[in-house]
Amino acid sequence: MKRFLGFGSRKTFSHGVHPPEAKELTQAKAIRRLPFAPEFIIPLSQHTGAPARPIVREGQEVVRGEPIAEAGGFVSVPMHAPVSGVILKIGLARDVRGGMSPAIIVRQYPGASQEILYGTHVDVDTLAPAEIVKAVQNTGVVGLGGAAFPTHVKLAVPDNKRVDTIIVNGCECEPYLTTDHRIMLERAGDLFEGIRIVKRAMSAERVIIGVEHNKLDAVEHLRATKPAGLDVAIEVVEAKYPQGAEKMLSKALVNREVPSGKLPVDVGVAVFNVATLSQIGELLPRKQGLIERVVTVSGPSVSRPGNYLVALGTPLRFVLEQVGFDDPDAQFLFGGPMMGVSVGSVDVPVTKGVTGILVFPRGDSRLARDKKEFGCIKCGSCIQACPMHLNPSTLGLLAKKQEYDMMAEQYHLMDCFECGCCSYVCPSNIPLVQHFRVAKSVVRDRKVSAS
Ligand code: SF4
Ligand code: SF4
Repeated sequence: MKRFLGFGSRKTFSHGVHPPEAKELTQAKAIRRLPFAPEFIIPLSQHTGAPARPIVREGQEVVRGEPIAEAGGFVSVPMHAPVSGVILKIGLARDVRGGMSPAIIVRQYPGASQEILYGTHVDVDTLAPAEIVKAVQNTGVVGLGGAAFPTHVKLAVPDNKRVDTIIVNGCECEPYLTTDHRIMLERAGDLFEGIRIVKRAMSAERVIIGVEHNKLDAVEHLRATKPAGLDVAIEVVEAKYPQGAEKMLSKALVNREVPSGKLPVDVGVAVFNVATLSQIGELLPRKQGLIERVVTVSGPSVSRPGNYLVALGTPLRFVLEQVGFDDPDAQFLFGGPMMGVSVGSVDVPVTKGVTGILVFPRGDSRLARDKKEFGCIKCGSCIQACPMHLNPSTLGLLAKKQEYDMMAEQYHLMDCFECGCCSYVCPSNIPLVQHFRVAKSVVRDRKVSAS
C-alpha cells in the first residue's frame, strides 16, 4: 500500500454504518457486454417525472439507438431502441413493483449487426448552456446511481440560484456494487468529457470527485489520466454507508450542510454520479441516446458474478441465464442490499436506474427483509446511525400509531431519505425504513389532496 501514501485524510460525515462490503466478488472484473436478448421491454416510465410518449407504431422497424418515445414534459426523457428490430407491441408489461405499466416491446432481428447507426457529431463547445441542457435531455440520461432523476433538470439551475461547485459521486457505498468503480477505471476519458460538459453548462467554478478509500486504484487512475487544462480535484472520502448520498457528500467535501427541506442547489452544489457523467461524455458529442448501462450482477447464488454492459430492456430472466444461476427459490434485488428493491418476477426488465442485480438464497440473513420483529428496547442505536440526525425510534413508535402528520411536523419525517441505516442496526428487527416510506407517501398524498 506504499504507493497509496499521500492521499491525505479521509473526509466524511457524522453517523452512518459500515455494512460488510462484499465487493471482492466483482471489483476486479472488467466490464463485459452481455449478448442481446430476443425481446426487450422498454417501460415508458423508468425515471422520475412524466412518462415518455411512444413515437413508433406496432410493426414498425427500428434501428439500434433510434428514438422510440419522446419526453412527456420537461421532467421527463426520451427512450431509444436498444436493438435493431421490430416494435412488437405497445401495451402493458410487468413492472418491478409487481404491477403492470405501459411499455414498448421490441423484438430483435437476429441477423442484424447491431451497430449503432443513429447519431451525428456535435461540437459541444459551440453549444450555449441552454442548448446543452436540451442536448442532455435528448440523450435520455437520468441519474444512473439509482435515483433515475432526469439529469438535464439538475443542469437547468433556476434564475434565482447559482451552482459554484459540482461534486462528482464516485463513492458507490452500497455493498456488492462495483459498477462505478469499474467505470472510473475503464471509462475515465468519457467521465472527464462529461465533467467538462456539465461544468460548461453550469458555469461552475470548481469540480471535486469524491471517491471512497476502498477504491484507491480508481483515485490513482483518475489523477493520472486527468486531462491537462481541466481543473478537477480528486478527493478521498471514508468508505462508509451512505457516503454517496448527495447531502452527505456535500457536507464531507465542501462542508456545506443542506438545510431541512432544501436541496444541494440551495447551497450552491450539484451532485452527479460518475456513471451518469461518463454516459453524457460518451453520448452527447455523438448525439446518441442511452441504450445500455453497466450493471453489477452478484450475490451468493450467481455462478459468474461480474460487471456487465446490459442493453436496457433486457429481461431479468435472460440476464440470469447468461450469468449462470440455478437456485429456483432465490430472491432477487435491483440495486444494493441497503436501498435496493425486491423483484418478484424474472420477467421484469433492466431499466435506467438498475445499478445492480443481486441474487440471494431465500431467507438469507444479509437481506434482512423478513426477520422476526420484536419491540423497541430503546437502545438508541438507530439514533446513533441516522445520518440525518433524526430520531428513528420515536418516528417508528409514531408510525405504528399512524401519527403521520406529527411525524412530519415535529420529527422531520420528510428529511428521511430512506437510507435504511436505522433498520440495519436495529436489534429488534423493526422495519423502520419501510414504516417511513409508507408515512412519507401518506403525508405527500394528504398534501396533494389539501392543495
Ligand atoms: S432511513 Fe431515514 S430515519 Fe432511517 S437512518 Fe436513514 S435517514 Fe435516518
Ligand atoms: S435501534 Fe430499534 S430497538 Fe434500538 S431504539 Fe431504535 S428502534 Fe428501538
